Amino acid sequence: MISFREAQAIIFEHIEQLPREERFLSNARNFFLAEELRAPFPIPRFDHSAVDGFAIRSKDIKNTTDKTPVSLRVINTVKTGQSATDAVYANCAIRIFTGATLPQAADTVVMVEDVVFENNTIRVSAAQKANKNIRRVGEEFAKDAVCLPCSTRLTPAAIGLAATLGMNRVQVHRKPRVAVLITGSELVEPGMPLSEAQIYDSNRFALVAALSELGIEQVTTHTCQDDRAAIRLQIESALREADIVITSGGASVGDVDYVKPAILELGGTIHFDKVAIKPGKPTVFATVSGKPVFGLPGNPVSALVTYLLFVMPALLKMLGDVGESNLFRSVILNGTLTKRSSRTEFVRAKLSHEGNNAIATPCIGQESHMLGGLVTANSLIVFEGEAGTLPDRNRVPVLPIQWS
Ligand code: AMP
Ligand code: MG
Repeated sequence: MISFREAQAIIFEHIEQLPREERFLSNARNFFLAEELRAPFPIPRFDHSAVDGFAIRSKDIKNTTDKTPVSLRVINTVKTGQSATDAVYANCAIRIFTGATLPQAADTVVMVEDVVFENNTIRVSAAQKANKNIRRVGEEFAKDAVCLPCSTRLTPAAIGLAATLGMNRVQVHRKPRVAVLITGSELVEPGMPLSEAQIYDSNRFALVAALSELGIEQVTTHTCQDDRAAIRLQIESALREADIVITSGGASVGDVDYVKPAILELGGTIHFDKVAIKPGKPTVFATVSGKPVFGLPGNPVSALVTYLLFVMPALLKMLGDVGESNLFRSVILNGTLTKRSSRTEFVRAKLSHEGNNAIATPCIGQESHMLGGLVTANSLIVFEGEAGTLPDRNRVPVLPIQWS
């Protein structure tokens, strides 16, 4: 059986970034740039004050002390949004506000809090070096410098920087259209009455919610009985409308598990159908006509954990992300863990703080049908290696649960 890292590598080999589209910056949150954004002008664009105070020449106060204060005449004010017209003359000051352009000849700004301002004069009682409280033109980015490389995620900070450059439209990778196909003859739509031996379909709601967390709203959902022909038809039509198909249930080796046969009947290639993990062993990854098809196990915890481990990184790559996903943290285990196989176990756990240390406490309800455990969890302890026991207080790798 392949490891989850091998499985991820196989998936990445078969996933491509989606084509680009232009979007208004105001509508581009969480998209990934399909172009690099360079500075059309230096940033900052002009020398300006970092504080509210007085622009002066440092040489006019170079011998100033508490005992030998210096008085400078305030000859003008420069407000934000105005160009500084006057230069600062010897033994003079110009009142200035944060963000206002630095007057000529000024080389330092004394803070308003550090002077006594009376009768159009300031009294300064300490020397101050040149360049203090001044933000220089181009000190962050020179003109033409790359400010936002290709593949940058448009987080609030990145959107702010793009706006700083004056961009109101950006090239990004378009979002994938996703088809979700829920299989299982026992499943009933929540809100409808249940007869004996039936359960409510939770995976459809959970998966649509997970996709929405990633900002993917173009999702079609279909439900299907455990019927080979029906599943094949549904996958076939899903492939016409979507960039990626996610199925739930019927991916294992039971007599009514028709997802794999349906993929093969459609001429698809199954790249793997088992991964050495728990939960989520019977996970299928295939391509049909070049499009990825994920066959997730039906157990609700397995479906969501395999979504996090495999589907979400694939979606992020389609969106243009080239960074590392599934980054582990190393924390202290609060409890003892035992496992009986060499499969990597993803133990639902709660991360919390104990002094300055992060600790992970396994949640109650670790079986793959027990969604309650996943609801309480904010992370997955990655329990690798052979069967055995992890003692209390051992350091363990954990994967914080992040849906976006
Ligand atoms: P399967 O992967 O189809 O063998 O299903 C494994 C288990 O998950 C069975 O107990 C199913 O009843 C349950 N299951 C499958 N699909 C869903 C679903 N959409 N919602 C809730 N439980 C499901
Ligand atoms: Mg089933």
